[in-house]
Amino acid sequence: MIDIAPAPALHAIDEDAAWEAFHARDRSADGRFVVAVRTTGIYCRPSCAARRPRREHVRFLDSPQAARAAGFRACLRCLPDAVARDRQAVAAAIAAIDAAETPPPLDRLAAQVGYAPHHFHRLFKRATGVTPAAYARARRTARATQALAAEPSVTAALYEAGYAAPSRFYADSDQRLGMAPGQWRRGGEGVSIVWTVAPSSMGPLLVAMTERGLARVAFEDDERALSQSLPAAELRPADTPTRDRIARIVTATEAPDPLLAEPARRLSFIEAVSRALLDAG
Ligand SMILES: [Zn+2]
Repeated sequence: MIDIAPAPALHAIDEDAAWEAFHARDRSADGRFVVAVRTTGIYCRPSCAARRPRREHVRFLDSPQAARAAGFRACLRCLPDAVARDRQAVAAAIAAIDAAETPPPLDRLAAQVGYAPHHFHRLFKRATGVTPAAYARARRTARATQALAAEPSVTAALYEAGYAAPSRFYADSDQRLGMAPGQWRRGGEGVSIVWTVAPSSMGPLLVAMTERGLARVAFEDDERALSQSLPAAELRPADTPTRDRIARIVTATEAPDPLLAEPARRLSFIEAVSRALLDAG
C-alpha cells in the first residue's frame, strides 16, 4: 500500500468520465491519462485487460511521468509507457501495407517497426480490431474491386491489385464479392442481392449480401452506389430478421482506435464487420 495521502485535486481529468472509460476498457482513452492503483502500486493505460480494482483504490494521473513521480510502477501487461510508440508502430505498419504491392509478412512488418512479431500482432489487433494479415487482405480486396471495374480483363485487374496468381483471388471472391469476378464485371448479371443500412459507431454502414458472400460493405446510407456498381443485379431490401441480425453484428463490432488515420480506420472496421458477418454465416 503506497500513496495513502489524499490525491491532490486534478484540474485536467474528469474523474467520472475517466472511471467510465477505464471501466469500459476504452482504447481511445489510452494516452490521455493513466490509472494508478494504490493497492498494487502499479499504473496502467485505461484499456488494460487486467481485472478492475475498486474505484476508491484508483487514482487518475495525466501522464506516466506523473505516476512514476508518485511512486507507481508501469504495468507489465499493458505497458502504459508505450502508448505513443505503439500508435506510431501501428500507423507505420499500416502505411507499409498500404504502399506494398503484395502484403508484407508479419515478421518483416514487425521488424520494420521494431517489435517482436507476436507482440506486434496483438497490438495491431488491439488498435484496429483486425490482424495485420486481415488488414492487408482487405486492402487488396478493395484494390481488386476497383481494378475489376477499370481494367480490360479479370486477370489484368487481379495482377493490378497485387495478386501473384488470379487463383488466389478466385478462392475468396465468393466471400468477398458474393459472386464470381466475371459476374462482377458484368454488373452482377443474374445475381440476387439483399441489402440493408445498419447504424454503427462510425456512421451508417451499407451491407449487401448474396447467397455466396458479401457483395458490398461500405460507409453509405443508401443503395445508390451499390446499384451503380452492379446495375445488372437484382437488389432487394433485407427482411426484418436479416436486417436485425446484421445490425446486431455491426453494433457488436468495436470501432478502431480513433487516433488512426481515417481511411485505415474505415477499412479496418469494414474488414472486422465483414469477418464477423462471414463467420456468422
Ligand atoms: Zn495494465
